[in-house]
Amino acid sequence: MVGDVLDGLGGVRFSSRSPKAEARSRMAARILDGSRIASDIRNEVAAEVKAMASGGVRPGLAVVLVGHNPASEIYVRGKAKVCEEVGIYSEQHTPAETATTAELLALVHDLNGRDEIDGILVQLPLPQQVDSKQVLMAVDPAKDVDGFHPVNVGFLSTQRAGLVPCTPAGVIEILTRSNIPIAGQEAVVVGRSDIVGKPVAMLLINANATVTVCHSKTHDLPGVCRRADILVAAIGRAGMITRDFVKPGATVIDVGMNKVTDTAEFQRLFAGGLARNAKREETFRTRGSTLVGDVHPEVTEIAGALTPVPGGVGPLTIAMLMYNTVKAARMRRGSRIPEMSRV
Ligand code: NDP
Repeated sequence: MVGDVLDGLGGVRFSSRSPKAEARSRMAARILDGSRIASDIRNEVAAEVKAMASGGVRPGLAVVLVGHNPASEIYVRGKAKVCEEVGIYSEQHTPAETATTAELLALVHDLNGRDEIDGILVQLPLPQQVDSKQVLMAVDPAKDVDGFHPVNVGFLSTQRAGLVPCTPAGVIEILTRSNIPIAGQEAVVVGRSDIVGKPVAMLLINANATVTVCHSKTHDLPGVCRRADILVAAIGRAGMITRDFVKPGATVIDVGMNKVTDTAEFQRLFAGGLARNAKREETFRTRGSTLVGDVHPEVTEIAGALTPVPGGVGPLTIAMLMYNTVKAARMRRGSRIPEMSRV
């Protein structure tokens, strides 16, 4: 039985599904399949790269990875693999952990000047001794495929063609490609970081939603969130958004990526109703950890549509990086590619 899987991990055990839980299963939220949408976008990018090749252009991406951060190394390997799949040239630069601001600035300036490099991505975080802001500011805005440069932030807020941060752009792709209306809807974004919360909010405003941005000082967060037709969680706290935060039928986009290793925490998240998941239990038992979002799995019982973690927003980030690299290659050469949606 599914519940037996966790026996031996702190005595966690689940009973079989109750009739009530079975009834609820008929009301589970529609799952928005980010993996499929990301795959569609990669195919579109590959077709675009092929079309550009006939004109003698191959988009190129340079990734700068300083020192040894295991999570960043996995992520960068993933980027290189997808570049190869879609036909984008890619190269990696791996300065030592001891690299100075001056050395990284010299590297970025060199990449800025190379015509075959269309996109430059400086993997964060940088070591403590490096002035990260100075390094990011040095990236040519036309090659800033992360969309973090103030010039691109300005383009986004004034609705001009620029490079949009990948994860926020992915959120909009999920909504539009899932035919979820944005214009006129109440959207609530929890999180106001420069890399996720603020750009997501700006994109939703540009798409004519009525947007509220929440953060750690927001009063009555559940009450504010319950106003949302579209609720975006970008917080970094496993399962914080419980059913009390969600209006029945709302679309919930879970940007969070949190590693859970504690058995009691796992049980809090996955012990009941539709939240139970045999595959997840097996993963947790064998690996001792599982990746969860900021949205509690029980939200599937109240939301109208929901992005899973993993397999929701995550896969979109690299797909949109590929999109941005092709877009940068086109824009640098004075032409535009058709927008894939309203990004
Ligand atoms: P940050 O830590 O930079 O920002 C977190 C935001 O959440 C802050 O604005 C903070 O408020 C707010 N917050 C924290 N605690 C609370 C609380 N109790 N109530 C309300 N608001 C709160 O995180 P990021 O924006 O970088 O990332 C957010 C999540 O998204 C993380 O889980 C991260 O791993 C994930 N992520 C996923 C990506 C993907 O590819 N899917 C890409 C990037 C991030 P305040 O400003 O007041 O401190």
